[in-house]
Amino acid sequence: METLTVLRDKRGPSDSWQEDLSRRADAIDPTLDLEAEIRRLKAEKNAVILAHYYQDGELQDLADYVGDSLALAQAAAKTDASVIVFCGVHFMAETAKILNPDKPVLLPDLDAGCSLADRCPIDVYSEWLKQYPGHTVINYINSSAAVKAVSDIICTSSNAVDIVAQLPKDEPIVFGPDRHLGRWVEKQTGRKMVLWPGFCIVHEQFNARRLQKLIDAHPDATIIAHPECEEAVLDRADHIGSTLSLLKFVQSHPEIKKFIVATEHGIFHQMKRSRPDAEFICSPPNSGCDCAMCPYMRLNTLEKLYLCLRDGYPQIEMDEDLRVRAERSVVRMLEMSKHLAPVQQKGD
Ligand code: SF4
Repeated sequence: METLTVLRDKRGPSDSWQEDLSRRADAIDPTLDLEAEIRRLKAEKNAVILAHYYQDGELQDLADYVGDSLALAQAAAKTDASVIVFCGVHFMAETAKILNPDKPVLLPDLDAGCSLADRCPIDVYSEWLKQYPGHTVINYINSSAAVKAVSDIICTSSNAVDIVAQLPKDEPIVFGPDRHLGRWVEKQTGRKMVLWPGFCIVHEQFNARRLQKLIDAHPDATIIAHPECEEAVLDRADHIGSTLSLLKFVQSHPEIKKFIVATEHGIFHQMKRSRPDAEFICSPPNSGCDCAMCPYMRLNTLEKLYLCLRDGYPQIEMDEDLRVRAERSVVRMLEMSKHLAPVQQKGD
């Protein structure tokens, strides 16, 4: 159960995690060069920093690996560092812990969760699954360790289509927890699956009507979208894919000078870096803001990264029995995706 897993995490010496964090953050010398200190501590502790594309640019710039969920899981599986620091959200750090039980896995802010993972509580999900005996259970990596433990295979948005396509055509499949990704995989593979009705609050808020207005105002723009978006948004996209796929599309189309992007705003950092000649416009979300940011991802900051490296917590903790059960589905994903998305070290 994710809640139990979170409560078991090593939050530090204080009963009040947030109070402890504030106290330590307030005590940081404002003249300290945090970037230099983080680099020094990283070398001293033989730590590796993995950062998701949805993190702030300053965190991406300090990381050894920057990538999407698949690339970061691959990096976590291969690392020989003594300590893993995950600049991402809880389920990502949890996946790194599943693959590295003997290493400390640090998450700068333990409250960096995920709306999608939260919408798939293990008790409700397990009951629901009982309706589908004999089905292969595929779950998106954006799920708790407990949900991974009742899954046959884990997938990411980078490999979901490929993994489903590798299964025999008559094999019945349950797919969770993102209904939009599931529906897109159904379209790509021509397979009907049973879908869990979850969604991501960041991607579901992209608004097709406002996107259409933007397209009308920028007829020369190419629309790229993440498959966690609603179908009406995806219907307007020229290219649909994982965050890495969107980045690669931008990098491999120098002839396109203007992109409307429907995914979390953090990816703009790498897009602008590799295509300074291009213009990137955020697809408008329902919120009325001009860009979509994941509130969970943004809980990680430079200060919190420094503190977790310096103090060695918060760490992800997990029951060994749960870890072993969750590991099977994660390892199966890695084996089925060996030919996909090779690990990208920064600068690659
Ligand atoms: S962007 Fe959505 S799916 Fe990704 S961590 Fe945030 S809430 Fe979860």
